[in-house]
Parts: sequence; C-alpha cells; structure tokens
Amino acid sequence: MLSNLFGRLIDNRLFFNQPCLLCGTPGTHHGLCPPCHASLPRLPAERCPHCAEPVAAGSLCGACQRHPPAFDALHVSYRFDYPLDGLIHAFKYGKRLEMAGALGRLLAEKAPLSAPAIDLIVPVPLAKERLAARGFNQSHELAQALAATMQARFDANLCWRKYNTRSQTTLDRAERHRNMKHAFGVKRCLDGLCIAIVDDVATSGATLSALAATLKKQGAKRVEAWVLARAISLKT
Ligand SMILES: [Zn+2]
Ligand SMILES: [Zn+2]
Repeated sequence: MLSNLFGRLIDNRLFFNQPCLLCGTPGTHHGLCPPCHASLPRLPAERCPHCAEPVAAGSLCGACQRHPPAFDALHVSYRFDYPLDGLIHAFKYGKRLEMAGALGRLLAEKAPLSAPAIDLIVPVPLAKERLAARGFNQSHELAQALAATMQARFDANLCWRKYNTRSQTTLDRAERHRNMKHAFGVKRCLDGLCIAIVDDVATSGATLSALAATLKKQGAKRVEAWVLARAISLKT
C-alpha cells in the first residue's frame, strides 16, 4: 500500500506538466506529447502470444512450440526501436530517474485499473554488483508504476539475482536459457499466488522465463510478464 501511494505521489509531483521527453513541447500530461506518443514503435499485431516474436496469424512461434516459456502471459505493446530505445537507454544508463513516471505509464497503458487476480508485482532483480554500479534498478521503478496503476501489492525484496549473468547479446536462444537457468532465488513460499514480473526490455524472454520458473518452483500458480519493449531478436 505504502509503495503504491509513494508511486502516485512521485507520479504527480514530478511528471505532471513536464516537457515532452522527445521534442520538448511544454506541459505534457505524462512526459510525452500526443504526436510523440503516437510515434512510438509498436509491435506487429501478428505475433506469438507467448513471447511476442512476429509470426503469421498470431500462432505460437516455433521456439515456443518446442520450449514454451515458464511465464503464462507476456504483456508488451512496444518494439525496442527508435525513439523508445533511446529513452530507455537514457533512463537506465544516464540515471534519468525523472523518466520513470513517463516510461512506467507506457508500461501500464494496457493494465487494468484494478487487478484483484494479481497478488504481487515484482521487478526482475539486478545482481548486487550491477545494482551498485548503476545506482538503481530500472525494473524496480517500472514495476512500482505498474503496481500503482493496478492497485496491486509491490514487493521488491521477494527475489534476488544470484550472480551477474554473462551478457546475453552474443548468445542464441538456447544458450540464453542455459545462461539464465539458475540465476534467481526466491525468498519464500508462494503457494497459489499469482505474480506479475516486470522488466524494461525483453529479447528472447529467457530472463523472464527463468524468473517465472523459479517463482513457480516456490509454488506460484501463475506468472505474468510485463515489459516495456520487446527487442525483435537477431537470432532465434
Ligand atoms: Zn513530443
Ligand atoms: Zn513465441
């Protein structure tokens, strides 16, 4: 509850009437003016319902048919592409924390205003060293915005990341899954709970799937993944 209230306070104090993050037009409602908002890169309508890979006729993609991800649903509207990629990069590496409200709002656009079925909203954690280097976890900020929109409980301490996984960028899909397999820990039993996990960008979904699998091992009944943008993978 407290974190939800905090989220809303931040949202109102810092993000109401701020100039557009992309073109500088003053007085936007939540950090993007309507034309810039409309220009953000959307995912194709025909995509795999499990992992959002573009496929004909919205059927499951081949990779998901062979190895379905451990999460039950993936919610994502945007493609990780210009100009959203630049915004996410500035937020994450430029420590532009004031962008959290605008990006969190994009993530939460399709979220129901109340989601009684979701028991907990959890950010994908960063390993300790990476958190120390970056100063904050971008997924934490986004998850908080989603929790505020959905009036759901936010828990940033449920999971941890055991180690810094190798960079995934040079790995293919199977290698990404192997790389992530034992990356996460969960602190308590989650019998029967429905959990939403949040990250800024997904590529193959390996990170989300690994976290979802760990949560399910601890008893979670359902795990939904929410991400701001889906990178269309170079390798599948
Ligand atoms: Zn604009
Ligand atoms: Zn798929």
